[in-house]
This record gives sequence, C-alpha cells and structure tokens, in this order.
Amino acid sequence: MYKTVYHASEMCPVGCGQVIYLEGVSNQKVFCYCTGCGIAFDNPDKAQWEAGVNEMKHIKDFSPEGIRYPNKEAIVAAGFGNHITDSDSGSHCYTEQELNEEHI
Ligand SMILES: [Zn+2]
Repeated sequence: MYKTVYHASEMCPVGCGQVIYLEGVSNQKVFCYCTGCGIAFDNPDKAQWEAGVNEMKHIKDFSPEGIRYPNKEAIVAAGFGNHITDSDSGSHCYTEQELNEEHI
C-alpha cells in the first residue's frame, strides 16, 4: 500500500532531483527532504536549485521520533500548499518504514 508522495521541488540545491515532503510523526512538523543527498530543508523555498546549499540539516533535526508522508491537507496547513510541484504514487520511492529505519 503506497501513499501519495508530494514534491516540494524538482531539483534539489545539490542537483539530485526531486525533493519530497515529510512529516514528523509526533511533532507533525512538515519539512522537505531529498532522498538523493539526504539533506532536509525547513521549507520548499530552501529546497530549490536556485536557493543553493546553505545548511546541512537531516531528518533527525526535524523529527527524532520518526517520519511519515504527509497528506495534502497537512502540507496546506503548514503553509506550503502553493509549493507542491508534483505528486506521484510513491511506488518508486522509499516506504515510510525504510526511511525510518535508515534515518531515525
Ligand atoms: Zn539532493
């Protein structure tokens, strides 16, 4: 069972490609994450190629207790509703469990 994955950017500041949205399980903070370079971003503005790499944050800096893929309502509530560049079925992405096992 895959969840829809929403994109925050189509080119991360390092140049990997898509940046996706994640949400902290306990703090419900929505943030952005690049599966290519593993850098997490506070907001979609920082996740754009044009923004450049200004800080190196990781999933643990946002949510030490685990992550999940946020639904669209959570992304809108975080104020990023106008910054969804794309979405996909999640079938080729990491599962939430894989991300949690790797990073938490
Ligand atoms: Zn990247």
